[in-house]
Amino acid sequence: MRFHWLLLSILSTLIFSLPAEAARLLFWRFETTENRLIFTTDARVQPRAQLIPNPTRIVLDLPGVTLGRSTVDQNIGGKIKSVRVGQFNSQTTRLVIELAPGYTVDPTQVKVRGISPTQWTVELPTPQPIARPNSRPNPLPSPSPQTRPSPPLNQPSSRPENDDFRVTRNGLFIRLDKQGENRDILVQEDQERETIIFTLPGTSLPQSLINKTLLVNQYGVSDIKFEQPQPSQARLTLRVAKDSPGWQGYYSRLGGLVLLPKGGLSQVRDLKPPEPSPEVTQTPSQNENPTISAVELTNNNSQLLIRANGPIQGRGSINRRTGMFEIRIPKAQLADPIQGPQLGRNSPIYQLRVRQENTDTVVIQVQPSLGVRLGGLRQPNLQTLSLEVRSLRATTPPNDRTQIPVPPPSNNPSFPDPLPPNTGSPRGRVLVVIDPGHGGKDPGAIGLRGLREVDVILPISLEVSQLLKQRGVEVIMTRNADYFVSLQGRTAIANRRRANIFVSIHANAVGGGRTNVNGMETFYAGNRELASAIHRSILRNVTVANDRGVKQARFYVLRRSRMPAALVEVGFLTGSIDNPRLADPAYQSQMARAIAQGILDYIQQKRL
Ligand code: ZN
Repeated sequence: MRFHWLLLSILSTLIFSLPAEAARLLFWRFETTENRLIFTTDARVQPRAQLIPNPTRIVLDLPGVTLGRSTVDQNIGGKIKSVRVGQFNSQTTRLVIELAPGYTVDPTQVKVRGISPTQWTVELPTPQPIARPNSRPNPLPSPSPQTRPSPPLNQPSSRPENDDFRVTRNGLFIRLDKQGENRDILVQEDQERETIIFTLPGTSLPQSLINKTLLVNQYGVSDIKFEQPQPSQARLTLRVAKDSPGWQGYYSRLGGLVLLPKGGLSQVRDLKPPEPSPEVTQTPSQNENPTISAVELTNNNSQLLIRANGPIQGRGSINRRTGMFEIRIPKAQLADPIQGPQLGRNSPIYQLRVRQENTDTVVIQVQPSLGVRLGGLRQPNLQTLSLEVRSLRATTPPNDRTQIPVPPPSNNPSFPDPLPPNTGSPRGRVLVVIDPGHGGKDPGAIGLRGLREVDVILPISLEVSQLLKQRGVEVIMTRNADYFVSLQGRTAIANRRRANIFVSIHANAVGGGRTNVNGMETFYAGNRELASAIHRSILRNVTVANDRGVKQARFYVLRRSRMPAALVEVGFLTGSIDNPRLADPAYQSQMARAIAQGILDYIQQKRL
């Protein structure tokens, strides 16, 4: 849909990252009488343990685990000072047992044991006084924040100009005092196609534009005239080339109107504009912001460089919502395409997101990998920003750290599964294909606040898959990270493996600013039972904005898979109620549990 394409061109986020499946830390406790830490996760985990001096700490890293709920650090007292827990990075939870100053333990006497794949204990021997006190400073950060904000590099320069009308690389942008509804925009083209007139009810232009005709001289448009015939009705007139395609307008969430040629800017890039009208009073401010052309890792992976073709300035801070280190670069635009770094398995950066936040601002979010700390943001020259990326392993003398061996968990059946007891455990081998829609070059629908379909449905799908596996169901995912798979590829996976069940997971969107459309729906092509079971479970377990029902539809993946298949639309990314919920990991998790339960219900009902 064009509406999505438009939002994408302004708000698209490029993500460079590694795939990861997340389990959660459900519970931990330090038992002082036993000198023992116990913790539980909701999926299999293989911890890593090490002893670090100054002060002595036993550090347990749980790869693939996130904090399930907020936890409180525990002050112990005596020879064991405290136990802390934190999100070391997006894919690792860290538990730290810190000894009182001047005490240590023999690392060979620390016993890390897996009682089950999801429940572990760490037993400590009695701490002993350190013979020779060591005064070196603490080389490791506390486990919580990985990054620290850097001060602003420079005061932003003031650049006075009329910003109310811009020719941008996305089209024409008009700032508005008040904007109407997308569906009410009326477009008229005159017979000879010399002008295109937009009538905008409910819209007020800024005073600086009213009764002005401004030069465009690009995209086959010579000029644009701004009128406000009524207080709540604006009119824009574009003077266009004879062979110009039609133009259309959309209200942007950035507080303005975007005008675009039908078929995209490639249709008009080489069109020669007609002679401008004699009324032209002023030239607009062109978007002459410097272009950021590359974000790259250099200097043996120790530096992230942001390069532009003109002077840029940036400011780094931690985004409280995402926990990511965020670099905001005002008065800049992204090259299209921008060159991003290759992030391999051993890359110091786990995830990098680059986006044009509005016509003026570029935002780059950085998530360091395990054991990596970000330094300050620096400016080696006017056109370049650099961020120091430091591996903590390199800064701590290796001899100071002692790895504590961790054996694989035992499969002691007397310890219960940490998930609540559940009815639908299948008898034999059941193979379920979970199909997160879209991926890679196809981000799916884009909703309010730039929320992308792929970013909602992948975590849900991963969790559904994990929950089913915990119930003994065999699961294949058509994709388990953000990459592209064709529709044929998706059904081929299911058909070739003779799966018993195919479930595709999507999120919905509508255009025209209809934020009042909310709710979930489930589709099937042939057999309705699977779709019904999933739908029922969602209604039972999740508070949904609206039940849009179980519907028949001839979607490719439903028609072409040779087993019972269902497609769940978990909600509307464009809906005012659904949007914030779909962005919320807790809601995603609820939805995942409901979908998994629906699949288990179906398995049980069909005695698969
Ligand atoms: Zn979709």
